[in-house]
Amino acid sequence: MSAPLLAAKDVTKRFGGLSAVSGVSLELHQGAIHAVIGPNGAGKSTLTHLLSGDIAPTSGSVTLAGQDVTGWTPERISRAGLGRSYQKTNIFLPFTVWENVRLAAQSRSQHATRWLRLATSFAQTNERAARALELAGLTQRREAVAGVMSHGEQRQLEIAMSLATDPKVLLLDEPLAGMGTAEAERMVELLLRLKPLHAMMLVEHDMDAVFALADRLTVMLNGQVIASGEPARVRADPTVQTAYLGEEH
Ligand code: ADP
Ligand code: MG
Repeated sequence: MSAPLLAAKDVTKRFGGLSAVSGVSLELHQGAIHAVIGPNGAGKSTLTHLLSGDIAPTSGSVTLAGQDVTGWTPERISRAGLGRSYQKTNIFLPFTVWENVRLAAQSRSQHATRWLRLATSFAQTNERAARALELAGLTQRREAVAGVMSHGEQRQLEIAMSLATDPKVLLLDEPLAGMGTAEAERMVELLLRLKPLHAMMLVEHDMDAVFALADRLTVMLNGQVIASGEPARVRADPTVQTAYLGEEH
């Protein structure tokens, strides 16, 4: 297999006496979706924060495209190629779809801005924003105000916003949460379209979606990985059945 685009090694995060994430190692590869499942409180969101730099690990390391990014700010990690969507949506509701995506695209180019390069940078930002809209299937909704769109479309927009930063790696925290069947199916199609272009980590409770999308599956419980590997094998693992899948699904 090719070198991983993102690798977490033995990552731990303690909040006081609680180990929210404990000794987790995981790799994300181009063209593959690595799903992370586990009951509420298992540490899935904390893990995504550790990979994106929103939280610094207590110990362990994270490498992105071969660089050690441990302790970097989220902005710097984003510029190094990581895009993410949050469990709580992060869009500007009074703004249009285009304005939201344009702002996200701009956040990526600001560091390189110089007066003489402004015109080029402006065109590139627009291009990146338009490409992200197209990929996310929102070109027709360009002028819609984000706050009046359906929940499903808002989640699509959030993904468009992370695409606008031109990421190599995408971290998605429960992109299907709160969706109806039709919306969920649309999102699964979108994620399948994005898969060949990115290395992806998908935190998700919807097991149909997980098994439709994932190439690798990691199960977390109490901050630890209790199983990881090929999805069908992980599903059949008795430990996993008892801890999680058996109860709810
Ligand atoms: P999941 O996303 O799997 O539901 P989280 O990563 O949100 O789980 O939470 C894992 C554990 O860490 C939970 O017990 C949660 O209460 C705790 N936790 C998460 N964030 C913080 C924080 N900022 N401070 C203290 N405890 C936290
Ligand atoms: Mg969570």
